[in-house]
Amino acid sequence: MQLARITEKQLNHETHAYFVIVFAVLVCCLIGIATRPLEYLALLWPANAALLALFLRFPHLNNLGGWLGAFSAFMFADLVTGNGLLHSLFLTLSNLISTIVSIFFIRYFKINYKYYNTGYTFVHLFGIFAFAGCLASAAFAVLTLPNLPNSFMTKENLWIDFGLWWTGEMVNYIVFLPLILAFPRIKDLQYLFKNRRQKRNYFSYFLPASSVVACVIITNIFAGPGAMLYPLAALIWAALTYRLFTMTMINAFVIILTYYSLTQFYATNHTILADSTIYISLRIGLFMLALSPLILCIISQNRNELFKRVLYLANHDSLTRTMNRHFFFKKGEYLLQYAKTMEFSVIMLDIDYFKRLNDHFGHHVGDKVLQHFAQIVRNNLRAQDLFARIGGEEFVLLLWNTEPSEARIIAERIRDLVEKTPMHQSDGSSLYITVSIGITHQNEPNSQDLQNLINIADQALYQAKHRGRNQVVLAS
Ligand code: GH3
Ligand code: MG
Ligand code: MG
Repeated sequence: MQLARITEKQLNHETHAYFVIVFAVLVCCLIGIATRPLEYLALLWPANAALLALFLRFPHLNNLGGWLGAFSAFMFADLVTGNGLLHSLFLTLSNLISTIVSIFFIRYFKINYKYYNTGYTFVHLFGIFAFAGCLASAAFAVLTLPNLPNSFMTKENLWIDFGLWWTGEMVNYIVFLPLILAFPRIKDLQYLFKNRRQKRNYFSYFLPASSVVACVIITNIFAGPGAMLYPLAALIWAALTYRLFTMTMINAFVIILTYYSLTQFYATNHTILADSTIYISLRIGLFMLALSPLILCIISQNRNELFKRVLYLANHDSLTRTMNRHFFFKKGEYLLQYAKTMEFSVIMLDIDYFKRLNDHFGHHVGDKVLQHFAQIVRNNLRAQDLFARIGGEEFVLLLWNTEPSEARIIAERIRDLVEKTPMHQSDGSSLYITVSIGITHQNEPNSQDLQNLINIADQALYQAKHRGRNQVVLAS
C-alpha cells in the first residue's frame, strides 16, 4: 500500500517533468528553427543550453520523465524539419550528450551549481560546459553523422564541422544558460517592482546599457578585426552597474549583433578568406567577450553584498540587532540638523532589576531577555524610527514627526507590552520583565544637540526608576 503510494507519487513527478521538458525544449527548438533562414542567426540553437539550465535550476525535473521528454521533443523537432529517422536519432543523441556529460562532470567535481553566482562556481561551470559538454557533443556528432547514408556532413570536412559544432554550442551556452539560471523568481520581481521608485536617476541608470548599444552599432559601421572589442569597456561598465540577469540580456544582444556585423564584414571582404575557420575564431572570441562581463558582474555583486553585510555589522549591535551607539548618533544628528521643521521625541528605556535577573538566571538568560525586549520594541516602531542599544540594558528611541502625546502613547504601549509578554524559557517556564521609560521632546529646530536630549530623557528615566519603576515619565 505504502509502496504503491510512493510509486504513484514518483510517477506523477515524472509525468510532470516529462511535459514541462517537452514543452520547454520544443519552444526552444522552434526558436532555433525559426531563426535558421536568417543566415546570421543560424548559429542560435537554444534548446541544449536551456535543457541543462532547467535541470540545474529545477533539479526535480532531472528524472527519467524529464529525459524522456527531452528525447521526444528533440526527435519530434528533427523529424518535422525533414530529417530521416536515423539522422534525427543521432542529432538528438548529439544534443543530449552535451547535457549528460555536463551534468556528469558537475557531479564528479561536486560543484554546487545552486550558488553559481558566488565565488568561482561560474568559471568552473563554464569550464565544464566548454571543455566537456560542448566538446563531447561535437565529437559525437562528427564521428557518427557523416557515416549515415545521405548525410549532410562529410568525413573530409570533419575538423571544420567539429570546430563549428563545438564553438557554436559554446556560444549558445554562454547566451542562453546564464539567461535561464539568472531569470528572476516571481518573488524577486515583486520586490523589484515595489522598490522601483527608489531608483533615483533613470538617465544615469541607462547610460551603461546605451553605451553598449552605441558600441555595437559602431561595430557595424566600422567593421574590422578589432570590432569585436568595441563594446568591451561599455560591457565592463554595465557589469559593474546591473544585476546579473540584466547583464545576461545585454550579453545576448551584444553577441548576436556583433556576430552579425562581423560575419557580414568577412563575407563581403573578399581579400580575406571567408572560410569556416573564421566563424570558429569569431565564436571563440565572442564566447570570451561574453564570459568576462558575467564573471565581473558576479564578483561585483558579491563584493557589494559583502560590503553591505560588513557595514551592517559595523553599525548594529550583534546581540539585539538594534543600531549601535555610534551609528545612532551619526544618523540622529544628521536628522536633527537637516529635518528642520520636524518634531522629535527621544525616549530612553532601561530594563528594571536586570542585574538581579542576571544573577538569578545567568548571563545567557539575560542575553535572551535583551533580544526578547528588543523584538517587542521593534514590533512597535515605524520604519523611520531610530532604535539603538546604548548601554548594557539601556536603549534609546528617536521618533521623528511625533508629538509629545503620541510619544507618550507609544512609550506606554511598549511598557505595557513588555510587562505582559512573557519570555518562554527552555524548561517551559515563563519569565516576566518590566521597563522604565523617560521621554523628552523637541520642536524647535537646532535648539539642542542629541546628547543633551538624551541627558534630559535620562533624567526623566531616573525619575521613573525613583518612583518605583515600570512606568513612563515625560521630562518637564
Ligand atoms: P535598575 O532597575 O535600576 O535599572 O537596575 P538594574 O539591575 O537593571 O541596573 P544596573 O545598571 O545596576 O545593571 C545593569 C546590568 O546589566 C549589569 C550588567 O551585568 C548587565 N549587563 C550589561 N550588559 C549585558 C549583556 O550584554 N548581557 C547581559 N546578560 N547582561 C548585561
Ligand atoms: Mg536597568
Ligand atoms: Mg541601566
